[in-house]
Amino acid sequence: MMKETLHREVVIVGSGPAGLTAAIYAARAELRPLVIHGPQPGGQLTITTEVENYPGFANGIQGPELMQQFEEQAKRFGTEFLVTFVNKVDLGRRPFTLWTEDGHEIRAETLIIASGASAKWLGIPGEAPAPEGLGGMGVSACATCDGFFFKGKPIVVVGGGDTAMEEATFLTRYASRVTVVHRRDSLRASKIMQDKALKNPKIDFIWNADLKEVLGSSETGVTGIRLHDNRTGEESEFACEGVFIAIGHKPNTDVFKDWLEMDSVGYIKTAGVSMATNIPGVFACGDAQDSVYRQAITAAGTGCMAAIDAERFLDSLPVTTPTGEEVTIEGEVISADHEKVTLPGGEVVSNLPEDQPPADGEAVVYARHSTELPS
Ligand code: NAP
Repeated sequence: MMKETLHREVVIVGSGPAGLTAAIYAARAELRPLVIHGPQPGGQLTITTEVENYPGFANGIQGPELMQQFEEQAKRFGTEFLVTFVNKVDLGRRPFTLWTEDGHEIRAETLIIASGASAKWLGIPGEAPAPEGLGGMGVSACATCDGFFFKGKPIVVVGGGDTAMEEATFLTRYASRVTVVHRRDSLRASKIMQDKALKNPKIDFIWNADLKEVLGSSETGVTGIRLHDNRTGEESEFACEGVFIAIGHKPNTDVFKDWLEMDSVGYIKTAGVSMATNIPGVFACGDAQDSVYRQAITAAGTGCMAAIDAERFLDSLPVTTPTGEEVTIEGEVISADHEKVTLPGGEVVSNLPEDQPPADGEAVVYARHSTELPS
């Protein structure tokens, strides 16, 4: 059933640290932002345990509690929320149009994409959600969500990064034994995370191994995995009752792919000095555009930047684009060298102040650094 059409100055897609920080800033600027929660309200921190590196919490804080605080802060200044997700967009002209899964049509004068990233999967037999595979019946990508179900059971974690080490370490609380399966013979994880996992007596490692299949049935759940040794070519089976896939994340940007410039993985390209995308008025922040840092604090920082950019854009102040030019909401384009402005009709005018024309032939003379001692 079609619901009402909403028209807002600032619409934010996603409710992780990036989206909610953008909401706090936009709300305090009295722009009454609308946040569309997305399929994982609160983002990836809601499926993690203790966050020890978010500044301001000397003793750490639980991920879900931190996100609850973000949301309450955003609500305090008048942010509206919709618990649904965007399944179609038209970014061809402003106001941009977004359609949500629950039937809303939303017009946005500016759009902030903070849709984050999701766990990657291997795409092997037995991994898909039930009933096609054993997903939810022993296969998971979230130790925090599902670890509890594996009390006293042997389990496998796939991957060699920080996520895999974190999940493996966390899962030793429940599992009888945790075996990390990694496709190389060295880990990508940071030293501290590696050390914790390597020293943990409940964690073993299988190196140079590719997971080929998750074994089991809907009656038994997961009973094991089929492995391929990528050095010897040997195949083997390994008994376990749970498989946690921890091989990284993919940005949740598919719905925007026909409109926005992205890298090959799907991270949205932004200007760097601003959160502007290739479409004036559309900004991206957090893991949707960050393939490098991917931390809650950097996501929050870029969320703040995106909100300030949106605010400036709505005030018709220029915002730097990925090409180095600056644009205003009225369609004026300022050249990267700041010397020319192309007006919406195509006319090109000077951007130099009229009362201060460039002084031809005049050069600024700087005092020369001298090593000579005064006489
Ligand atoms: P990541 O660093 O990209 O590591 C992914 C791991 O999965 C790598 O070891 C990779 O193997 C393996 N992998 C990828 N595709 C695979 C495939 N198709 N088959 C088998 N193995 C595959 O991802 P991440 O561990 O999720 O970490 C992402 C970012 O978040 C990092 O910057 C990390 O530092 C950060 N993070 C930090 C913390 C923390 O500090 N508490 C916790 C979690 C994540 P290769 O090594 O061979 O490429």
